[in-house]
Amino acid sequence: MSVSKNAQTVLERRYLIRDEEGAVTETVDGMFHRVAKAIAAADLQYDREADVAALADKFYHMMTELEFLPNSPTLMNAGRPLGQLSACFVLPVADSMEDIFEAIKQAALIHKSGGGTGFSFSRLRPNGSTVNSTGGVASGPISFMRVFNMATEAVKQGGTRRGANMGILRVDHPDILSFIDCKKDNADITNFNISVGITEDFMAAVIAGGDYDLIDPSTKKVVGHQNAKLVFDKIVEGAWHNGEPGIIFLDRLNRDNVVPAQGEIESTNPCGEQPLLPYESCNLGSINLVKMLKKGEDGRYRVDYDKLKATVHAAVHFLDNVIDVNKYPIDKIDEVTKATRKIGLGVMGFADMLLYMGISYSSDEGVQMAREVMRFINEQGHLASQELAKVRGPFPLFSQSIYKDQAPLRNGTITTIAPTGTLSIIGGCSSGVEPVFAYVFIRNVMDKTELIEVNPILKERLIQRGLYSDELMRKISKEGTIAHIEEIPADIRDVFVCAHDVTPEYHVKMQSAFQEYTDNAVSKTVNFSNSATLEDVAQVYMLAYRLGCKGVTIYRDGSRDNQVLNIGKVK
Ligand code: UDP
Repeated sequence: MSVSKNAQTVLERRYLIRDEEGAVTETVDGMFHRVAKAIAAADLQYDREADVAALADKFYHMMTELEFLPNSPTLMNAGRPLGQLSACFVLPVADSMEDIFEAIKQAALIHKSGGGTGFSFSRLRPNGSTVNSTGGVASGPISFMRVFNMATEAVKQGGTRRGANMGILRVDHPDILSFIDCKKDNADITNFNISVGITEDFMAAVIAGGDYDLIDPSTKKVVGHQNAKLVFDKIVEGAWHNGEPGIIFLDRLNRDNVVPAQGEIESTNPCGEQPLLPYESCNLGSINLVKMLKKGEDGRYRVDYDKLKATVHAAVHFLDNVIDVNKYPIDKIDEVTKATRKIGLGVMGFADMLLYMGISYSSDEGVQMAREVMRFINEQGHLASQELAKVRGPFPLFSQSIYKDQAPLRNGTITTIAPTGTLSIIGGCSSGVEPVFAYVFIRNVMDKTELIEVNPILKERLIQRGLYSDELMRKISKEGTIAHIEEIPADIRDVFVCAHDVTPEYHVKMQSAFQEYTDNAVSKTVNFSNSATLEDVAQVYMLAYRLGCKGVTIYRDGSRDNQVLNIGKVK
């Protein structure tokens, strides 16, 4: 097994079993055996003679070879008493005190188990409206978001990992302007990502320069108007200021709603890649594309499509099994999740794959490669789900679904591109479909010795050319990018681009290429340099809209004090 020291540390800290004194009692290998066995066992529900030992072996190898990894809650909890295996949930927030606090309780149970929750606050009556039972005045969605935030903060201590939330408000809610500003202060509502739910009507009004209606959700009456461009500019200003809010295109999420009769999709999970119905949950898994390469006789790397196909089919089987062995935190989630059986298979290591292939992320060739690989995964994923449906039956709501006239599918959705924040550390590859953030990190360890960490693909390339030296690595680390380092030949500089070398336009083009062949959505951050203008951000929003993205998240370098990754600084 090729798990790095970094991965070992992450796994020991959070994933491996501990005894009552808190000492780790499980090995990494033991963890993968535990997970493989627990997930393979679901086959017995369909075939009492199933060879689950052979299947567990297959799953074990796929994980220990770091070809495929399920989302963190599956690694943490499979085969253990808690047994909650999903990363993504959406809970409804209805407009009553009982419902609001019920949702807070349900979220606490989900956070405790390592899942993240998304909510739409759009159904809450606006600040200042009347409360019938008391004659008092309602405090509005933002004040309740603060209560959700505080509950998350309290649960954080005891849970398996930090609970994350998505908060969404429709752009036509009367409190929209205060929502856009609610995270202006970086210390506020820190357990939430927020996104404005944008409608096609609103975008049409932005383009036409006109006004649009504000609607009180409790009475459904038009209670005011806003200038669409003014609201759009406020969203852009907030995103420029510190990355919040993002936007999601609600009508696009609903255009791909698999069973419209089940109601409207009003929210996504915390990182935006998984739109879900209220009470729906989804388990994700990611294929490490670096492991899907083969080296030809000419020394060039190509995608090994036979291996990729086999991996997709095994991964879909794995994720469908997860739905059956999962222990859901509340009964309603169990019921709603099993009605559509959504899974989210995606990729990680895409940027690393391009490096091996000698293709720049910031190029049309790179974007084309994204299309090619994701189209293949999506097609094979759907075929794999059709094959499962032949044996296990289609998902229960199939006959009411948008797929009803096609071959039966076992799963309502099959593909999602997750951020793979932890999975990519375990897999030792670049995260999700993001470009490489930086190629060299220098850490100062306790005894003041310097630890130089270099991206292994760049290191190999520089050694091949006889260019590698510690001094050069220090220089790269200081500059944050190799784009302007002249002692490195142009052919290497052209390929080894980092997140800040990629133009915002190519960030969006890449997101859109993956979206084209993804059932759910794509987790992606468009990185801007600190000097980017409001106009730059506005243009990217419009481009994402034009290119069919389901949402946009941007981040301008240095716009938060404690950002996770810094370029040109010691990590
Ligand atoms: N998530 C969460 N808390 C976290 C990280 C992730 O609740 O600290 C959830 C959230 O729904 C997110 C999803 O897990 O959208 C997938 O995140 P990621 O791919 O980074 O998770 P990993 O499986 O790599 O840990």
